[in-house]
Amino acid sequence: MQVQIFSLGMFQTNCFLLIDEVSKEAVVIDPGQDPDALLSAIEEQGLKVTGIWLTHAHLDHIAGVGEVKAATGAPILVHEIEKDWMTDPMLNGSGRYPEYFEPITGPAADQFVAAGDLLKLGDQSFEVRFTPGHTPGHVVYVTEGMVFAGDTLFNNGIGRTDMPGGSTAQLIKSIREQLYTLPGDTVVFCGHGPETTIGHERKHNWAVNDQTDLLR
Ligand SMILES: [Zn+2]
Ligand SMILES: [Zn+2]
Repeated sequence: MQVQIFSLGMFQTNCFLLIDEVSKEAVVIDPGQDPDALLSAIEEQGLKVTGIWLTHAHLDHIAGVGEVKAATGAPILVHEIEKDWMTDPMLNGSGRYPEYFEPITGPAADQFVAAGDLLKLGDQSFEVRFTPGHTPGHVVYVTEGMVFAGDTLFNNGIGRTDMPGGSTAQLIKSIREQLYTLPGDTVVFCGHGPETTIGHERKHNWAVNDQTDLLR
């Protein structure tokens, strides 16, 4: 499987294009604002997009969903808790940045994902893990040697928890129980900024490691 990365829009949100080179099928994770470069890459490589998988429904991760859906017809997957976020600008946050974003009012999700679901791209399986904290319905997608982590864990950082539905204690618990339990050499593809590994963050991420008091 090949991973191509596009940093999109004013928040430079990482969108991932996962490609099964045998079948030419592909999955798009978190298509953000102005996805033209992504759409060109899909067309130039002759890919059939079989799913639009969302880690969570914040504006910067869903602003391009409408364009990708229109171009590919692929189903949109999100956790059910954030079902209404897809169509409500106050929940997805687009209503808070009227200068920069059109209010995002759709499209709605086609399918819901939940903890333990297995998704497929070609022969590759992905496990859905439930990781609330940055948002209440956040999920990550885990496959052999990799995790697509959205806004949970960053390279030496963690996701914000000061937005509606955020909880630092919950986020730390999600990272410890759902991410730090992966093998140390697992590559973490983050929603913003460069990749890291689980092993590096377990050792060096002070934002997680110094939060013992929150777990009481
Ligand atoms: Zn977010
Ligand atoms: Zn984000």
